Amino acid sequence: MEEEKRAFSEQKKSCVNCGAELTYKPGTTEIKCDYCGHEETIVQNEDGFKELELKPYLEEMGSLSHSEEILMLQCKNCGANQHIEENYKSLHCVYCTMPLIIEDAYKEDWILPGAVLPFQFDQKKSHQIFSKWVQGLWFAPNNLKKAALDPQYTKGLYLPYWTFDAQLYATYTGQRGDYYYVSVPYTTTVNGKTVQRTRQERRTRWTPASGSVSGFVDDTLIKASHQRKNAIPNKIAHWNLKALVPFNTSFLAGFVTEKYTIPLKDGHLESTKEAEKIARSWSRHDIGGDTQRVHSINMSLSEETFKHILLPVYISAYQYNGKKYNFFVNGQTGRISGKRPYSFWKIFFTVVLSIAVIVLILWLVDTYQNQQGNI
Ligand SMILES: [Zn+2]
Ligand SMILES: [Zn+2]
Repeated sequence: MEEEKRAFSEQKKSCVNCGAELTYKPGTTEIKCDYCGHEETIVQNEDGFKELELKPYLEEMGSLSHSEEILMLQCKNCGANQHIEENYKSLHCVYCTMPLIIEDAYKEDWILPGAVLPFQFDQKKSHQIFSKWVQGLWFAPNNLKKAALDPQYTKGLYLPYWTFDAQLYATYTGQRGDYYYVSVPYTTTVNGKTVQRTRQERRTRWTPASGSVSGFVDDTLIKASHQRKNAIPNKIAHWNLKALVPFNTSFLAGFVTEKYTIPLKDGHLESTKEAEKIARSWSRHDIGGDTQRVHSINMSLSEETFKHILLPVYISAYQYNGKKYNFFVNGQTGRISGKRPYSFWKIFFTVVLSIAVIVLILWLVDTYQNQQGNI
């Protein structure tokens, strides 16, 4: 544990020219000084991803070599907890923009991430994506547009996820259904006469089926933070995990990292449910035929390993009429999504204007028809 801890903090690097803290430069494998432009390549450890054996972690968390302490800050307003890998100048909650107080920081154990998907573009670019989207919103209050365009509140955030790998074996019982068609006679009326016709109807022949399926379940992705209030929209929560790189704190420099709040144990329960769905779908495939019924499944998982991984999103937080709004941009794909308020007055005036136009048209038509009538 001691050894691991030292490795973690030693990776925090200062600029050799001016002493300022180096931050990760998105889309590259460099860390960069924002003051003098000095760049350094991030040295990657060669042993690749750290897939951790699941059992010992489920049994005794905390005393293991891949866990260590980090400094956490909890937002008093929305409850989000965040770890900030940069100089503590002015800190704001990434979700709700409330100021965070460095004196409130506390230390917590966490399982070190095994892999990270580094940001692929910088904050400036994410801000351009936000701006374009906000400008294109219909009926958005002008204040929203102004505030969403304040780059101060757009932050890069690494979200925690669990991924699980396992060897799956399952036996099943069920039924295989094969379609066949029968000709069914019926009577109908054609030109007032009753006639006999036949039509084809589909039937299913059911036969009992049983067997076993097995295979490797790779990278089942499970959310590791509750995000009840601060939910990341599903629309943007898709990353290409092929781009994961072995974890290195340098990738977090200058960004905010959220600590997992869903314990490994609960994440594992979720992933087991996912594995059951997979076993069910493999069983259906194994049964074959046109349709299947699965009556029972007996599944076991072995050689289970897991990783704690970090995935990138940019968040823009904004308060409007006392309510909190977030816009999210996927830090890998650039997809955007967000909740947005509507301006009552903009909608009101549009409706009033539309009614006025309709009334005017009706009046014009009426006048025209009257004139026609007078001729
Ligand atoms: Zn420098
Ligand atoms: Zn907050």
